Amino acid sequence: MKTVTVFGSTGSIGRNVAKVLAEHKDKFKVRALVANQDVQTLTEQAKMLNAGMVVVADDLKYLSLKGAMFGMDALVGAGKKGISDALNMDADITVMAMPGAVGLQPAMEVIKKGKVLALATKEVLVCAGSLVMRSAKLHGCTILPIDSEHNAIFQTLNGEMKDKGQVDSLLLTASGGPFWDKDLNFMKTVTPQMALQHPNWKMGAKISVDSATMMNKGLEVIEAHHLFDMPSEKIRVVIHPESIIHSGVYYIDGSLLVQMGNPDMRVPISYALGYPDRITSGVERLDLATLGKLTFFEPDNKKFPALELARYALQQGDGATNVLNAANEVAVHAFLEGKIHFLGITKIVENILAQMGNPQMLGIYEVLAVDKEARQRASEFIGKLGVF
Ligand code: MG
Repeated sequence: MKTVTVFGSTGSIGRNVAKVLAEHKDKFKVRALVANQDVQTLTEQAKMLNAGMVVVADDLKYLSLKGAMFGMDALVGAGKKGISDALNMDADITVMAMPGAVGLQPAMEVIKKGKVLALATKEVLVCAGSLVMRSAKLHGCTILPIDSEHNAIFQTLNGEMKDKGQVDSLLLTASGGPFWDKDLNFMKTVTPQMALQHPNWKMGAKISVDSATMMNKGLEVIEAHHLFDMPSEKIRVVIHPESIIHSGVYYIDGSLLVQMGNPDMRVPISYALGYPDRITSGVERLDLATLGKLTFFEPDNKKFPALELARYALQQGDGATNVLNAANEVAVHAFLEGKIHFLGITKIVENILAQMGNPQMLGIYEVLAVDKEARQRASEFIGKLGVF
């Protein structure tokens, strides 16, 4: 039996993790489930998975969680103290699926335990990739990517990282989001509702908007750089609207190995949970004849400047990618609130990046300080401009 703790269990990824765990109660014992504030889903999951501890990050929800868990054996916690208690449950595998930069601090704590971090929160690597990878190496922590593209690369590398000379480059596929084939004039009219309708993946609001601007792919280039120690120019991005090929690896002999399957997060989740074995995920087998064909396109950098912006930040360093991420989170939020236009998102990120450059960050406190400053500057910038 492996023990598992899930951070962000009631979000889009977390709910899929819970589904996979429920299918394999003979293989996994759930130590702790941590959610932001969705007490109802958290309680249902705790009952279904017989969790040892449940934690709600929002302190104000403590009493309602305590009430909902009445009569059950599980420990109940809330806030910072609850999160730290969940970390101390010392699970073999910790799934990090809290969306955004808030996942960084708990992820760093997990790494120090030297066990397995199954990482869905890409911001952890975008905010502080060098620091995170160095710490993982130092403490002997294995990071298994749950992000579907990186999971696909991890699967197709198949241990060949040991001799990196055999790997030529990485292929990162992008769905392109709902607007990849629309023109610039159309993109000026995009509303939050339109951006939230992703054609292939059911995801949270933040990542759906990131997918529509293609900032998500930019963040994933940064993520891939850190996870697989590859320079930006060796990470090729191609638009593949069907989302059937989830990414892959080019080898020096001309082979391109890819991982394919129906677009369902339970596949990368079960690969990370079962690793090095494969376990069932509940996802249907891919029917190639029904699909008929797959298509691929070069991304249009004029329409999607976010991708180049992310590559630029990656060249500058961790400080710049941290700024990029923080400004983007604020800008996406402002777009969802109707304060800015869709095309304004990347403009804000570009502006804050120009203001702050690549600030030096020696440790986690500097990472958090840079993150905070970039958020403040982005909010001020949006406030000054008013609704645009
Ligand atoms: Mg992804």
